[in-house]
Formats: sequence, C-alpha cells, structure tokens
Amino acid sequence: MSKNLQTNWDVIIIGGGAAGFFAAIRCAELNPKGRILILEKASQTLGKVLISGGGRCNVTHACFEPAKLITYYPRGGAELRGAFSRFQPADTVAWFEERGVRIKTESDGRMFPVTDDSNTIANTLRFSAKQAGVRVGMGISVWDVAKSPQGGFKLEVKSEAKSQFIQTKNLLFASGGDRKSLDLVRKLGHTIADPVPSLFTFNIKDKRINDLAGVAVEDVILKMDSLTARGPLLITHWGMSGPAVLRLSAWGARILFDKIYASTLTVNWLGDYKLDATLEILQRNKDWHENARKKIATHAAFSQIPIRLWKQLVHFIGDKNWADVSKAELKKLAEELTAGEFKIQGKGQFKEEFVTCGGVSLKEVDFKTMQSRVVDGLFFAGEVLDIDGITGGFNFQAAWTTGWLAGSEVG
Ligand SMILES: Cc1cc2nc3c(=O)[nH]c(=O)nc-3n(C[C@H](O)[C@H](O)[C@H](O)COP(=O)(O)OP(=O)(O)OC[C@H]3O[C@@H](n4cnc5c(N)ncnc54)[C@H](O)[C@@H]3O)c2cc1C
Repeated sequence: MSKNLQTNWDVIIIGGGAAGFFAAIRCAELNPKGRILILEKASQTLGKVLISGGGRCNVTHACFEPAKLITYYPRGGAELRGAFSRFQPADTVAWFEERGVRIKTESDGRMFPVTDDSNTIANTLRFSAKQAGVRVGMGISVWDVAKSPQGGFKLEVKSEAKSQFIQTKNLLFASGGDRKSLDLVRKLGHTIADPVPSLFTFNIKDKRINDLAGVAVEDVILKMDSLTARGPLLITHWGMSGPAVLRLSAWGARILFDKIYASTLTVNWLGDYKLDATLEILQRNKDWHENARKKIATHAAFSQIPIRLWKQLVHFIGDKNWADVSKAELKKLAEELTAGEFKIQGKGQFKEEFVTCGGVSLKEVDFKTMQSRVVDGLFFAGEVLDIDGITGGFNFQAAWTTGWLAGSEVG
C-alpha cells in the first residue's frame, strides 16, 4: 500500500459501485462526523455505471407504483415491495435533480440523464461523496474479514503486494457479483445462492429462422416450462433476442442454468391468438375466392408476421395456392403460428450487459434496514444480494434503493 490507511473506521463499505456510493453518501449526510470509507479494488470507482446503458446509464425506469415495479424483478420482488415504498424511481430522479442532474424518460420507460452520458451520473456520485466527507480507497482489495473480539470487524486489505489490517464498527458489502467477496460473506455465516447469469439471448439453429437476422415481430408470447414472457422478439444470426427473450431468460435463469441451456421454447408468433381463432382465419383466407390462385408463401394471412418469416413458416406446405392447401396443412400451420417449438441450444450475451442472479440469501436480511439477521453490524446493498431485475433500469434502481436504506441505518 503506497499510503497506510487509517486503522479505525465507523463504517467500511466494500465496493465502489452504484450501491456502495449511494449508501456512503446517505450515511455521511446523516452522520457528518462519521468516519466512512469505501474500498474499491479496481483502479477507478463506478466502472459499471460508466459502461452501463451503452455509455448513457439507464439510471432507472419510469414506473412509480411499488406494486407494479416489483413485477420486473425475477428475484427479490417480494422483499423489495416495502423498500420501494420508502425509496423508489421518483426518489432516484429527485435525488439526482437536487444535485443538478436532469433526467429524461424515453418512450419505453427507460430513464437517462439528459446529457446521454454516464459520466454525468458517476461524477455526481463522486462529487456528492467527497462533499459529504466519504473517504475512497481505490486499488484496494478486501482480502479477508472476521468478527472482531472487541466488537465490529477486522479486515485484511491488500494493495499491490502490501497488506494491512483495519478495524470498523459496521461493515457494508456492496461488492456486486464478485465471487471472492461472496465467499467472505459466506465465511461470516450467510447462505449464498450460487451466482448464475441472467439476461441473455437464446442460441437456436433452426431452418425456420435461417438467414432472417434483423427480422422482428412486435408482440409474441414465449413459453418455456411453466414460464411465460410477452413482447417484441428479434431474430439474430445466432437465434433469438429482443425484450420477450430477455425477460424469459431472466425469469428462467436458474432453470436454464440447471438444464445447461438446453430446453424447448414455444413461440406464439401472433401474441395471444388461440389455435381455433387462428385456424378460422386461415380457413377464411383459403375460402376467399380472390385468394384462390394466390400463393400461400407470398400472401400472408397475418400482417403482424413479416413476409420473410411467413415464407419460412409456411415452407412445409410447398409452392401451393391458398385454394389447394389441405385442412391438415392449415391445422399444422395454425399450430406452427401459435405454438411453434424451437430447441434452445445455448445462450448468448445481450450487448455487454451481464447481470448475475444469485447472492446473499434474502431470508437472512432485514429489508427495513438492509442489516444481516445473522451478524450484528453487517449490512448489504446492491447486486451482492440475490436480487435481479430485467433490463430497463431496474437493476440500478435496486442498487439505489438498497444503498439508500442501508446508508440510512449503517451509521
Ligand atoms: C455492461 C453493463 C451494462 C449495464 N447497464 C445497465 C443499465 O443501463 N441499467 C441498469 O439498471 N443496470 C445495468 N447494468 C447492471 C448494473 O450495472 C448493476 O446491477 C449495478 O452496477 C450493480 O451495482 P452494485 O454497486 O451492486 O455492484 P457493482 O457495480 O458491481 O460494484 C461492486 C464493486 O465492488 C468492487 N469489489 C468487489 N469485491 C471487492 C473487494 N473484495 N474489495 C474491494 N472492492 C471490491 C468491484 O470491483 C465493483 O466495483 C449493466 C451491467 C453491465 C455489466
């Protein structure tokens, strides 16, 4: 360590990410005399904030009802219900606006700084922490943690080749999905749900979607095991992506991990159309005299299905006119359109956005205070918890909310 750290602290926060900064600022503003230290092993703080949202930082989502907001969290929704009644997206927006950051809402509900630059968010957090008197140690890794016999915690911290022992009354883990840090939490007596990826695209090799990369369908319903997701779907070079797929990947993160990312996906290309209604429409197309001599491949029955996709879905019927399509073929087509089966053969990455599900078991945390129910003086905030949201600003909102709650109590 180039400079030795002061030995005694009131609060040490492990992790200089969104949750750690939010907690530290709140705590320091409530306790102006508190000795509060953030330890960050990377050479700069707020690394994920900087790269988030394609460099724009999708800071939260314009959903202001806690009951609705929790439906965007495959894990942690129930626990966050009360937490969101105390600090929710409207509070996030107000928090940043009080500090001079204007936030805008895009048509899909995602919220960004008007500058479209994540530096605006990172710099505001850094400046607010400095103003409040928070100390930040960068390039310092927390190597080991133990309960101290005199109360509080003893930490072994390392930087370059040097190590040092420091002491704190209260300890807050805001260490994200870092596995080594989860081991430290486990060592303190907590149960950890194994981290597995959430939010990914599906690898699917299937002739029905071959060479269709870029084709999108506005409203599909996807099913896998007992899970359902609805929304736009995008065909890619490797398979399927888009909001409906990402949602299903988040809800099915554990199931798919256990199945080594091999499963059957059922696609209703027509949203909530049922088999019978679809068959009726197909039959009417066949019976309609103007259609009789038109090719089924080039005259789609449903405008919501792009013609290139339609062609491949009806390929099994061959080069027939509508009038020549058999009843059995129509039935098979109705099945294909409302419940087409595809084999998921692996997962791909959604942009660079890598979110883990898993982390500290939520049963062992009091969500009023974010304090451990197992160890006195120990707190948690952010992705270190077994909480994750779907894409759209929900993961940062969980970090702000749990950070704010922890910061309100940890001092
Ligand atoms: C590319 C990308 C884009 C994203 N975009 C969005 C988005 O636009 N909107 C959204 O809501 N979510 C987004 N996410 C998810 C979001 O970034 C995370 O949910 C959020 O950053 C979690 O914050 P955190 O503070 O809990 O953890 P982190 O941001 O991971 O911070 C934890 C910090 O702790 C440090 N640390 C860990 N262990 C130790 C240790 N032992 N000693 C010292 N330091 C330690 C780590 O180095 C890290 O800096 C994105 C994620 C990625 C990867």
